[in-house]
Amino acid sequence: MKFGGTSVGSAERIAQAADLVIAGVRDGHRIVVVTSAMSGITNQLISTAQIATRGNWQPSVRDNFFERHRTVADQLIKDAPSRRKALMEIIGERLDQFEKLCFGLSMVHELTPRILDVISSTGERLLAPLLAGAIATRGVEAEAVEATELIVTNDQFGSADPLMDRTQSKTESRLRPFIERGVVPVITGFIGATEDGVLTTLGRGGSDYSASIIGAALSADEVWIWTDVDGVMTANPGEVPEARTMREISYSEASELAYYGAKVLHHRTILPVYKQNIPLRILNSFNASDPGTRVSRNGHPSARGVKAVTSIRNVSLVTISGKGMQGIPGIAAKTFSAVAAERANIFMISQASSENNLCLVVNAGESRRIVKALRSWLELELIQGHVEDISVDDSIAVVAAIGDRMQGRPGIAGKVFGSLGAAGVNVIAISQGSYERNISFIVSADQAADAVRAIHRAFELDKPSQ
Ligand code: ASP
Ligand code: MG
Repeated sequence: MKFGGTSVGSAERIAQAADLVIAGVRDGHRIVVVTSAMSGITNQLISTAQIATRGNWQPSVRDNFFERHRTVADQLIKDAPSRRKALMEIIGERLDQFEKLCFGLSMVHELTPRILDVISSTGERLLAPLLAGAIATRGVEAEAVEATELIVTNDQFGSADPLMDRTQSKTESRLRPFIERGVVPVITGFIGATEDGVLTTLGRGGSDYSASIIGAALSADEVWIWTDVDGVMTANPGEVPEARTMREISYSEASELAYYGAKVLHHRTILPVYKQNIPLRILNSFNASDPGTRVSRNGHPSARGVKAVTSIRNVSLVTISGKGMQGIPGIAAKTFSAVAAERANIFMISQASSENNLCLVVNAGESRRIVKALRSWLELELIQGHVEDISVDDSIAVVAAIGDRMQGRPGIAGKVFGSLGAAGVNVIAISQGSYERNISFIVSADQAADAVRAIHRAFELDKPSQ
């Protein structure tokens, strides 16, 4: 079971999380818990570090963090003063470390990704002992465990990935004894460590990923993600009021959706559970009796073909164009190398067979840097005139229609684009991989919501699928 920030955002929420764990134990399950920081804490830690780096370190910040957790501990662990005292010592030590680091930053004025990981992981390291304390106070033995002892990662600070073999053996040997003894381990989400023991983080929102990694390492029967929505929806309800929670989706649908802006899961979460065929549930801790969304191999494919539609914003369209690009080998290779050298991610690619232009969708924040890199990598082609222009458009959005049953079915693309035509939405570029589970296209940002609504209505996604 993984609890997200809002599910452990106050004494009341932590008590509820502990109750959910205990109910599971009483039902005969053996449970391992992964927790996020309290909602808002990670953002505050990061901004404190940034402010300190500019030379402004206020020791009162430490006291605020301490007070917020102390108030919660007082409410949660009323009747066990010695347990509460031990807990507050741990919390105090971890905040001392945070304070020293921030003081250091205010002296050296430099914040490296490696130090930022240590700072931003503090929230989880404060919460795991608190949640373990709350569970123990309610009568089920629980123990906080640092994920640095379990998850071995590469050294990509800020978005590390696990080395699964090493992770598996460490997690097994550290956690199995707890599980056998009926003790609930409560693990810090979001965090791992390199082979040398240097702390890393798995990226913002990464505690979902932690839960999936640990679930896979232990060959869990299921992984449950407790969050603050009922599950994965057919569309963003802000854009489509009649959007509906899907009860069953497949791993591939979930990963397409996680990627395309359905912010329910960290985008890498699916991979570890998918490899081991472990079902994953997304559940609402604010509405615990709702069945949520179950993600599995089969996922009840919908006969309609399209199952969900989503938009991704804050992206830019980079276009490389020139009539002389036709038949010249190597332009695409240089383009992708340039983007890779910038360590930037490409969301979508499209090139028509006339080869007169190649377009990429990238994060808006990275587009200027990418264009600059492309101008230098393609300098020769620009001089020779093969490439005439490299431009960027920030006023676009990507819309994607997603569903496993789209594969091999004629007429889906016709219906998607027919509905856009009827809604007066102009399509700028299109891409569908041969996997056929995702049709993505670019529209101007101000037409994205219209596009999403048009497709949602055309495929009647508001009605439960059969
Ligand atoms: N606390 C981390 C974050 O806010 C990780 C998480 O919540 O999953 O990004
Ligand atoms: Mg979170």
